[in-house]
Amino acid sequence: MIPYGRQNITEEDLRAVTDVLKSDYLTQGPNIQEFETAFAKYVGAKYAVAVANGTAALHLCALALNVSPGDKVITTPITFAASANCIRYCGGEIVFADIDPSSYLIDINAVRSLLEASPKGTYTGIVPVDFAGRAVNLEEIKNLADEYGLWIIEDACHAPGGFFTDSEGNDQLCGNSKFADLAIFSFHPVKHIACGEGGMVTTNSIELYQKLLALRTHGIVKSNDLYVNSIELAGGDESYPGWYMEMQTLGYNYRLTDFQAALGTSQLKRADDGIARRRLIAQKYNDAFSGKSFISGQSGVDAGHAYHLYIIEADDRLSLYNHLREQKIFAQIHYIPCHLMPYYQSLGWKAGDMPKAESYYRKCISLPMYPTLTDEEQSFVIKSVYEFYNE
Ligand SMILES: *Cc1c(COP(=O)(O)O)cnc(C)c1O
Repeated sequence: MIPYGRQNITEEDLRAVTDVLKSDYLTQGPNIQEFETAFAKYVGAKYAVAVANGTAALHLCALALNVSPGDKVITTPITFAASANCIRYCGGEIVFADIDPSSYLIDINAVRSLLEASPKGTYTGIVPVDFAGRAVNLEEIKNLADEYGLWIIEDACHAPGGFFTDSEGNDQLCGNSKFADLAIFSFHPVKHIACGEGGMVTTNSIELYQKLLALRTHGIVKSNDLYVNSIELAGGDESYPGWYMEMQTLGYNYRLTDFQAALGTSQLKRADDGIARRRLIAQKYNDAFSGKSFISGQSGVDAGHAYHLYIIEADDRLSLYNHLREQKIFAQIHYIPCHLMPYYQSLGWKAGDMPKAESYYRKCISLPMYPTLTDEEQSFVIKSVYEFYNE
């Protein structure tokens, strides 16, 4: 069977995990910071906070930015629901902006129209998504966001190692937080780096970083400089006692374990090789499908694409999907538009609201894309697609 995505676990990964299992710390140990430091360096951000999964990362970001009832936040309908749900967790309202049908990313003109149609201050934030691994141009988003006073959470789950090129010609890595306040990643096995479950927040803001650290662990701080209660109330005499800590805000337990972090650090060492392989696979698909009338793909494909997914838009998509399944090729659909999920419909969204996303959804299909996909397997996928269209 050939899935659309798959993890790759090496002997080195296994050793990294078993070493931790035999050590003193299964959680809250040294592997967490090691992974955070390596990851921050990889994406070019100052700070990184490892968490239990990508959804927890999004939730912590929304909390750190004080999202609350009455807030209106913009995101794309073509994403995993968590990009929107994190705002709902905090009582905020989600407003979808339609996609650009050639990049499949949120359409900056649709965002601008929304912002211009309401008084300034109506919207508080935006969650752009580097969908499929293609980097959103965050410089453009930031210019607009600054004009309207919005914060930015970059959902970079699909794009560790991806980048866009800014107006000065510099490559800007996804998650480097140069333009976004916060960025988030997931280490679910179908993503580039697999921890089983796992997530990361990156930022360049020390204030947000400290908030995230506390929120990840129940809102607890353990630092003499930050205590609110007096030494006397804490039970000390001249200084705070050794056991002392304070729960200052309502946080969660969103920690990652040390053995997951060790797996992440080990996987991160191969991340560049993985991306290079993904780009080769994409090139081979591009060559195979270019000029074929029954298929189109993300146009203007750029060097910074991290290729979490390889998506084509196909005629008679349902039959193609079923045909591939008969060959044990498990293609997938990304995504059912978020605004059409019954939950979001219950909040007032309906079919017809996002025409470009909806027409994309009628044709999109994600073909197998992962570094260990062999040339033979990929050729078989291409042959099966050709077969279906009698090519
Ligand atoms: C995977 C994913 C998430 C959520 O990550 P989990 O680790 O599964 O919670 C959020 N946003 C996008 C775009 C994703 O692909």
